[in-house]
Amino acid sequence: MDWADELAAQVRDRGPQIVNDSKTPSGTVHVGSLRGPVILDVITRALRANGVETRLLYGVDDLDPMDAQALLTPDAIEREMGRPLAHVPDPVGDCHASYARHFAGVFIETFDGLGIHPDRYYWMSDIYATGDLDPYIRTALDRAALVREIYRRVANVQHPDSWHPLGVICPTCGKIGTTIVTDWDGERVHFECRENLVVWAHGCGTTGWISPFGGAAKLPWNLEWAAQWSLFGVTIEPCGKDLSTAGGSRDRSDAIAREVFEREPPLNVPYEFLNIGGRKMSTSKGRGAAAHQIADVIPPEQLRFLFLRPRPNQAIEFDPEGTDAIPRLFDEFDRFAAATAGREVKGEIPPGYEATFGYSLLDPAADIAAEASAFRPAFSHLALLLQIPGVDVASRIEIEKGSALNERERVILRERVAAAQAWLAAYAPESARVAVRRDAVPEAAASLDADQRRFLAQLSNLAGHDGPDGGDAWQSLIFSVAKQDDLPPRRAFEAIYLAFLGRPNGPRAGWLLASLDRDFVYQRTWAASGWTESGPPAGSEVVK
Ligand SMILES: [Zn+2]
Ligand SMILES: [Zn+2]
Repeated sequence: MDWADELAAQVRDRGPQIVNDSKTPSGTVHVGSLRGPVILDVITRALRANGVETRLLYGVDDLDPMDAQALLTPDAIEREMGRPLAHVPDPVGDCHASYARHFAGVFIETFDGLGIHPDRYYWMSDIYATGDLDPYIRTALDRAALVREIYRRVANVQHPDSWHPLGVICPTCGKIGTTIVTDWDGERVHFECRENLVVWAHGCGTTGWISPFGGAAKLPWNLEWAAQWSLFGVTIEPCGKDLSTAGGSRDRSDAIAREVFEREPPLNVPYEFLNIGGRKMSTSKGRGAAAHQIADVIPPEQLRFLFLRPRPNQAIEFDPEGTDAIPRLFDEFDRFAAATAGREVKGEIPPGYEATFGYSLLDPAADIAAEASAFRPAFSHLALLLQIPGVDVASRIEIEKGSALNERERVILRERVAAAQAWLAAYAPESARVAVRRDAVPEAAASLDADQRRFLAQLSNLAGHDGPDGGDAWQSLIFSVAKQDDLPPRRAFEAIYLAFLGRPNGPRAGWLLASLDRDFVYQRTWAASGWTESGPPAGSEVVK
């Protein structure tokens, strides 16, 4: 998290800071789009923690044209494509005033759940209507030749000399994606609504002179972005690496800010993408990669942690479908918590882990030490317990902790139980699904080799009727018994899976045994071994 604190140190003497981002509400938002807002929130928290007065703004670019027909009904396509998103009806129902309000609403709810609370949300359709952008529209039109020259120089984009940086909302058909402005007389612009200006929408052919002010027109994206910076006094605005390339959108807007609107652009914090394993996420039983769907499975603090663990300039590979990516995310979060609480943890832990843990918490004012030391049950253990009939999860977890859960720990447990249930329903791989064969030793256990049988018999003897406490203790016992007999751990685990599940693989064996009744474990390991008081079954002596 040193990057956020470094940024705070860099701007500490520059007075109050305005952090901004904005988004086009063009449809369902992919979970990767949450990386920007989480980074924005952490910058804001870091600045405030360093005593810098800071405001966080978030804009909805809802005058942008509708350009994706996937969510429109066939009869609406011709009519709606090219109109401002703020003027397209809600495709889902009557729940919101427009298409833009619907999708921005879903996104904003997700923010809220993640502990991201901008001081202000602004809607560009409202901002244009107030006339606040009129001075910028005027400047852009007066300096149209300079704007064309910047596009040519910075991005190698050649606009004809008649091109003016403005999009008019056609007064006849209501579309904005189909119009171009070809002249400006100081008060009105001359526009054309062209049938074939773009391939995804058709204009109606109207041409004429019109006043561009008070919401009748909007600036093209690069100019609108720079105008937002001036209008709101933005000093810091992170943006995705797709926009941060040389000659890309950010470079153009930076040049326009400096040369057309004559203001230094905000500091950029470019950030990398989150990639979802290269696999399509909306298939079969998967829940998809939509931000609000992932947020149903991954609780907010682990989701913040997913984005915050790597530095902004590192890409994140995340592949939750049919993998243990989600359990591993929880384990990693718990490791950071343990290290923050001063406990020893396995493996290397990056410097700044305390800050990463602190910024992952939902509440900026949380007591980090208390949060770090709270007892958190391992996610895969919970996922296992939930699949075993008759288990009282809360009392199992209290046995593991060795004392009663406090109020906060009960909240964490409830949250994790819900997450584990959702994970089992939507993402878990087959190996994580278990059905313990209670009635009898599974037939598949007949294939156990002599050394595996001896391992089970020894395990049964050593564990006895009592068995160790908790998954880690079982895991160590399994390793030590296997080691004694020179049995590779893989084959020891296989013996346990065959004896209890009737298949050669399964979830972590120690946790499986810990989730079961101890006497049952004793009886079953012994029965599956085939051993009797007088020794191994006939014909299965281990030859050393
Ligand atoms: Zn709606
Ligand atoms: Zn038109």
